Amino acid sequence: MVAGDSGMSSIVFSNVSQTYHSPSDESHDTVALKNVSFTIGDQEFVGIVGPSGCGKTTILNLIAGFLQPSTGEIRLEGARCGYVFQKNNLFPWKTVRQNIEFGLQMNGVAKLQQQTIVDEYLRQMRLEGFADQYPHELSIGMQQRAGLARAYAAQPDTLLMDEPFVSIDAQMRLHMHELLLDIWTKQKKTVVFVTHDIDEAILLPDRVFVFSGRPGMIKEEIPVTLPRPRSHHSLNDPHYGVLRKQMIDALFEKTEDKTLSRQE
Ligand code: ADP
Ligand code: MG
Repeated sequence: MVAGDSGMSSIVFSNVSQTYHSPSDESHDTVALKNVSFTIGDQEFVGIVGPSGCGKTTILNLIAGFLQPSTGEIRLEGARCGYVFQKNNLFPWKTVRQNIEFGLQMNGVAKLQQQTIVDEYLRQMRLEGFADQYPHELSIGMQQRAGLARAYAAQPDTLLMDEPFVSIDAQMRLHMHELLLDIWTKQKKTVVFVTHDIDEAILLPDRVFVFSGRPGMIKEEIPVTLPRPRSHHSLNDPHYGVLRKQMIDALFEKTEDKTLSRQE
């Protein structure tokens, strides 16, 4: 594992709302987030869960600076962000190796060191042997792992992860969980992790924000008090069942506007 450069980071949202304006008609505007406030400290691992359309991806895009909030304020400190998108956005014209190298080139890492780092992450992602393939030659799960390798290799201070393991098969996902925990522990990053998977939301984060249906608001914040270091054995911890129930109750609790559906 290559050590990170551990810059301090913090993310502060103060009464942030986000409306997507319809080009045709104001009545079709979408209020994605309403008065969202939180602080995420340096090296914290925060999970975000909530129904589809409640603004989870919007939050990550606001942190990444892809969007400006309609109202409210966002303060970011030292957050050199890496983003693992819900669907990998590998460059189709670059090989797996070239894709992973890209972030390193942007960071000015020397060519020789780039190769060492890329080899390390190819190994960790179990993609050795696929370095010279193009994304379309890989399965969806392998493409996603290449996207993870690219984000991890660039060693950002803050990792934004949007349902990053959805397309990865169950067995490999266990490996991905333990790898992320290992990277987070050793490289001391801040992680903002969006997931639909309740087990993932308990196994990985320090705290979980449970969002209401649209407009997304934080309904509940659940501290995940499982001891660290964690592994899949943590799922056998007696406290795990309590946390799972708390998370499910929070997700399915009726909100005032009754927009939360049980489908999630
Ligand atoms: P989630 O990730 O929780 O599923 P999103 O943040 O993607 O939710 O979207 C929140 C809401 O905002 C959804 O209703 C979605 O349709 C809408 N939305 C997201 N992006 C845009 C956009 N660029 N233009 C218009 N509406 C959008
Ligand atoms: Mg989303």
